[in-house]
Order: sequence, then structure tokens, then C-alpha cells
Amino acid sequence: MDSILSVIALAVIAAHVLVWIFAFVRGSGDRDRVNWLLATIFCSILTCGVYLVASDVAITGKPVRGISVFLMLVGLLACFGTLVIRDISNPDNRQRLVRSWLLACGVWLLVLALAYLATPEPMLGQPEWLLRLFRQPDLTGLVAVLGLVITGVCLFGFGYSRFYVAELPEVANRALFWVLTSALLILSVVLIGSGTRFLTMLGMVALLTANVGASYGCLSYRVFDIRMAVLLSLRTLGFIAIAAAMIFTALYLALTTNLNPGTSEGLIAIGAIALLIAALYVPLRQLIDLTVRLLNSQSAVDPSQVAREYSEKVSEAVELEELVLVATTTLNRLMKVRRSALIVLNSTFKVKDSVELLVMQPGGAQDKLTGFLSVYSPVYTRLAAERQPISQFEIEFSPDYRSMNAEDKLLFRRLQMSAYAPIISGNTLIAVLAAGPMLNDKAYYPRDLALLATLAQQTGVVLRNARLLDDMQHLNKSMQSLNRNLKAANEQLNRLDSVKTDFVTIASHELRTPLAQLRGYTDIIDALNDQGMLDQEQTTGLVGNLRKATERMEELISAMLDVSQIDVNAMDLRFTDTPPESVLRMAIEPLTDAIKQRKLTLSARGLRGLPNIQADLPRLVQAFRNIIVNAIKFTPDGGRIDIVASLQGASNGNEVDQVLVEISDTGVGIDRKNLELVFKKFFRTYDPSLHSTGTYKFLGAGPGLGLTIAKGVIEGHGGRIWVESPGHNMDTFPGTTFFILLPVSTPENAKRSMTFEPEPTSSERGTDPKPPIERDQLIGTRQ
Ligand code: ADP
Repeated sequence: MDSILSVIALAVIAAHVLVWIFAFVRGSGDRDRVNWLLATIFCSILTCGVYLVASDVAITGKPVRGISVFLMLVGLLACFGTLVIRDISNPDNRQRLVRSWLLACGVWLLVLALAYLATPEPMLGQPEWLLRLFRQPDLTGLVAVLGLVITGVCLFGFGYSRFYVAELPEVANRALFWVLTSALLILSVVLIGSGTRFLTMLGMVALLTANVGASYGCLSYRVFDIRMAVLLSLRTLGFIAIAAAMIFTALYLALTTNLNPGTSEGLIAIGAIALLIAALYVPLRQLIDLTVRLLNSQSAVDPSQVAREYSEKVSEAVELEELVLVATTTLNRLMKVRRSALIVLNSTFKVKDSVELLVMQPGGAQDKLTGFLSVYSPVYTRLAAERQPISQFEIEFSPDYRSMNAEDKLLFRRLQMSAYAPIISGNTLIAVLAAGPMLNDKAYYPRDLALLATLAQQTGVVLRNARLLDDMQHLNKSMQSLNRNLKAANEQLNRLDSVKTDFVTIASHELRTPLAQLRGYTDIIDALNDQGMLDQEQTTGLVGNLRKATERMEELISAMLDVSQIDVNAMDLRFTDTPPESVLRMAIEPLTDAIKQRKLTLSARGLRGLPNIQADLPRLVQAFRNIIVNAIKFTPDGGRIDIVASLQGASNGNEVDQVLVEISDTGVGIDRKNLELVFKKFFRTYDPSLHSTGTYKFLGAGPGLGLTIAKGVIEGHGGRIWVESPGHNMDTFPGTTFFILLPVSTPENAKRSMTFEPEPTSSERGTDPKPPIERDQLIGTRQ
């Protein structure tokens, strides 16, 4: 018997060596995993090798074969377990699991060796030691059995848990494969370690089978469908069992009824039995087929029928949204999948050699998911160049896609789909038809992918038409909006144009009036002088009028100069610590007479207690005065002007506290369309020739520069000015409110004031002309 064991051991070793060489040569991919496989096979060779040594070899009186076999088996389990963990564990905790597993096996090995040394007569490995262990417990035996139970449970539990949590059916299938291989390996360990010769021989064969399985699992990224294989085996076994039962019944009937094949009656009876058995066999076989199909929760899908029905439904869709709805719902129903999507490629939006993917699922625009796929990605090549479908499992696990970058992999993982087929139109990839997991959690096999590819092909033409329609609708919409913008721009241009024309009228009107006065008075003085009638009283009166006219001209010219300074960012601001209250007081003071004359009420609130601001006092006074003068001019007699100031705290660390001043009146108001234009130079809402010429009179004339200067000065302080009004009405007087926001301390990055310097020409600037500098960026804090 021992010689038979040795022969079997030799044969198993030789087979193992072949498997080892095969794994060594073919295992080029994940070397680390392959190394653990090689180690497992090596331990198996050593285990079988022990049986080539005589069974009675003993050291210090104790037999060594039993313990040696067990120590080898522990090593074998350690290597095999590591291989399984490395193959199906989550990469996040892979290292930790492998370390714990190896540590546990190491401890087991050590304790087993110590127990062997401590036991006087260890029975490990002796015939029927396992049975005897229950009657006469022995430390070494107990450690061996206990270790085997614990490691076996851990390995099974781990494999099963990975099977349970796997998202892709292919991954679950792989976990199931390792659970089965682990079961076979543990069984072989038990059989080899049993000590009984016959069982040991069986164990060796089982070990070889387990190792062949492990090599297959380790070297191929996709293992066969276990569930399907089990069902097919059951079906075959069922057929054999039925056939056997039928033949048995037929023979039994023929022999027990003593039928004589020599007579015609006998022959007829035998024929009748055969017919009966055959008639019974056919439905029974179909019953088994049906049961297997039900167990596989799969009713036959006829690809040509699916393709025809899908094509019919999809060709009815006209718009893109409609196509998405029809294509996905039909695909879900026909291919029996949980979800599906149409991934449209946006070729017009290429970013750094990537195409934009727009995932469209029924449910509207809010469900759209987007991402970018590199055109160098192997998945893109597969879909666009090879025009072949691909499964999510291949993307994640196939060695062909190992080079794919993590971002692209993550993009596909996020889609939660299981298979993708290209939709090609005019030789370009325009979209991808994606199908989710199957209802029966089956993996995608080549025939499923081929069916998906056929459906994708049928979507191509319809999708192209739908996209054309969609593009046209978009184009239409954008043309409409462009038209609207053009209209608005035209209106704005017209208004600006009239501002320009106004300038000529204003300049001539505003400058001519005082000029005419000057001329008139000079003529009068001249005439009176000629006649020698010029007395002192007349001279004083005439000189006074001359002064007024000159002052008006001066005012106008200085306003024009201020505006030109603002235009070239050259307003020179000198900042000092200034109380806002003083600014407003100084702005109002010269206007008190006019306010009284016009019977207006002016109130100011909230100015006390405000913090000082960094300001150029005369300029800020000028700005506020311009605004208040407007309030006086555009408010009818008896109206109100209210000034309210408040402190606006900074909302975050990057901002500073600000003082907000609101100046509201009960005047004629400003038309909404002019709310921004009032700050443009020379803008006025009235025909200048109709103006009354008094400076503070109701609707008094002005050159249209006051607010331009106010805005320039306030923005030069790092502040902001805007106006709100319900509209312009000369009967109801809706009123106007100006808002001025000024920072308490000018932020460091605020606008800087610029000295007046001519702008460098583009040739001075060199070849890289800078864009014109915004005023906002330049006027600001002063040193
Ligand atoms: P002007 O020298 O004409 O006052 P501004 O630049 O100060 O020039 O103002 C421009 C235009 O803004 C004014 O002509 C007027 O139409 C309008 N406007 C300014 N302030 C007010 C206000 N408080 N109420 C109504 N309209 C105003």
C-alpha cells in the first residue's frame, strides 16, 4: 500500500511541477499574486514529498511524518489564503488583511510545533488519529484541528462576504469561485492530514484539482459562470437520472412479464413499452429544462426579436429627450436590465484631448451627469476605433485596461452601468448606449454584449436626427436671444448717440450763455464809458454780473476738466482721516439758502457716531454736493430730501466695514432704463434748450457732468454708487434714492490713484500690448 501511496505522491508532484512551470511562464500580469500561487504549489509539492520518506522515521523517539505533513499544510493554507485575499479584497485594506492572515498562520504554526514538542506521544498523522482524538484528546491534535477550523471558517467567511457585497456579478462570481476552490483545498488538507492512506491519496488528487483551479483563477481575469456551470451540471445529471430510471423500468417490465421477442405479441408488447417510456422521457426532460431555466431566472431572449422590437420603438422618437426615454425604457424591458442610459459625446467641447460625456437618462435635465474622457483612453479606443462593446468588468479588471488612468475608471464606476456599446454615425463615435446590471444579477457575456451592440447600431441614425433637431432648436433659441441683445445694444447706442449730440448742444448752450452775458456787459460798459455815464453804482452792478458769468464759465470748465481727469484715471486724491458727518455738513452748507428758497425739507440721520473714513475731503464734498444739488433741482417746491447713513459690518475676513449713505428725494424720479446712463457724461433726460437756467431751480439746467464726477470720486475711494427709482413721472413724483457705499479703511488691494501721465504707445509697450486699464483697478488708497 505504501508503494501505491508513493507512486500517487510522485505522480501528483510531477503534475504540480507542470502546473508550477505553466503558472510561472504565463503569470506575467500581477506578479505578486502569481508569486503566492507559486508558493502554494511549492508547499503542495513539499507536502506530497513527505510521503516519499519512510513513515517510520523518528527523531528522539517521536515519528516525524505526521507533524511534517501538518507543518507543510499550514504553510500551504497560509500561501493559498494570501492568494485569495490578494485577489478579491478591497485594495484599501488588502495589506492589513494579508498581514493579519499571515500572522494568524504563523502563530498556528508555532503553537503546533511547540505542542508537538510538549506532547510525549503525539498521534498526529497516525492512522485514524482524528477518530481517536475524541476518545483520547491530545494537545498537538487539538491545536491542529482547532487551527484548521479557525482558518477554514475565516477563509470561507471572507470569500462569502466578498461574494455578498460585490457590485458587479462578475466580481461576485469570482468570489464564489474562490469559495469553492477554498472548500476543495480545505477538504484536501483534511484528507491528507487524516493519516489514513486511502484518504491521503484522495486528498492528494483533490489538492491537485484545487491547485489547478487556483492557477486558472489566478491567471485568467474572468472565470467561468459558476452558477450557470452548477445548473448545467444539475441538468445533465437530471437527464442521466431520468434516462437511467426509464431504461431500468423498461428492462424491469420486459423481464418480469416474460415477454417473448420471438412471438409477434411479445414484439408488439416490447414496442409498446419502448413507446411508453419514450413518451414519458420527453416531457420529463422538458420539465428539467424548465426548472433549470426558472432557477436561473431567465426566460429565453430572442436577439432578433429584441432587435426588431427595439428598432420599431426607437424609430418613432423625434426629439432627443423623447429618444432617451424610449430607448432606455425599451432596452430595460427587452434586455431585462435594471437601468440604462444614453451617453452623448459632445464633440464641440474638446478640452485637452478629452470629449465631454453627457449622460442622459429619463427624468429631465436635472439628472444629467457629465464627465470628460480622454481620447487616448483604451476604452475610447475600443468604442471609437475598434467599434466594439465593452463591459464594466473588463474596464475594471481586464489586463488590457490596466493602463487606463484612475480618473477615467472612476468616471465609468460613477455611471453604475455594466456594459457599453458604441453608437457610430458617419464614421465617428457620437454616443454610447449603456446598460445597467441585469435583473437576475447575471454577468454580461459576449452574446449579451453583441445584442447591446446591435441595439446601439439601430440607435445611431435616430440619434443623429434627434441631435440635429436639438441643435436647430438651440440655434433658434440663441438667435432669438442674440436678436434681443442686439435690440438692447441698439437702443443703448441710440441713447449714447443722443448724449453725444447733446454734448454739442450743451456745450454751446452752457458756454454761450455766460459768454453772451460777458459780451453784453462789456458792450454796455463800453457804451456807457463812451458817453461818460459810468458811475460807481453802475460799475459795481455791471462788474458783479460779469463776475457771475465768469464764475459759471469757470465752474463748467473745471467740471469738464474733472471729468477728463476721471476718464484717464488721473484724479489726484489725497486721503486723510475724515468724519463722514463733516463731509455731508460741508456739502449741504452752501445749499441751505437754495433749500429755503425752494421750500424743501432736508433731514439727515445716523451720521453721528460713524467711524472716520479714509477720504479726500474736498473731492468727497464735491461728489455729495453734486448728488444733493440734483435732489434739489429735480424735486418740486415743498418736497423732501432725506439723508440716512449707517455702518455696514464686514461679512467676512476679506472685507472691511463700510459706511452706507442713502440720499432720497420726493422728486420727478428717473426712468428705469436710464438708471445706469445717468452716470455717463453729458447725459441728461431733458432737452437742454428747454431747461431753466437757474442753478437750483426746479428742473434747472446742468451740463450732465455732476453724477459722472460723483461716481469717479466715490469709486476712487474704493466705494460704489448706484441709484434706484420706481420711474420718471412729472405728476406723481415717485422720487429717487442714491446709494453711496464707502469703505472705512481702503483695502490694500484697492484702486491706486494715478498721477497724470500720458499713456505709453503700443510700440513703447513692446509686442505685448496690455488691455486698457479699468478705472476700478487704479484709483485708490494714497500713501
Ligand atoms: P446735471 O448737470 O444735468 O444735473 P448730472 O450728471 O448731475 O447732470 O445728472 C444727470 C441726469 O440725471 C440729470 O439731468 C437728471 O435727468 C438725472 N438725475 C440726477 N439726479 C436726479 C434726481 N435726484 N432725480 C431725478 N433725476 C435725476
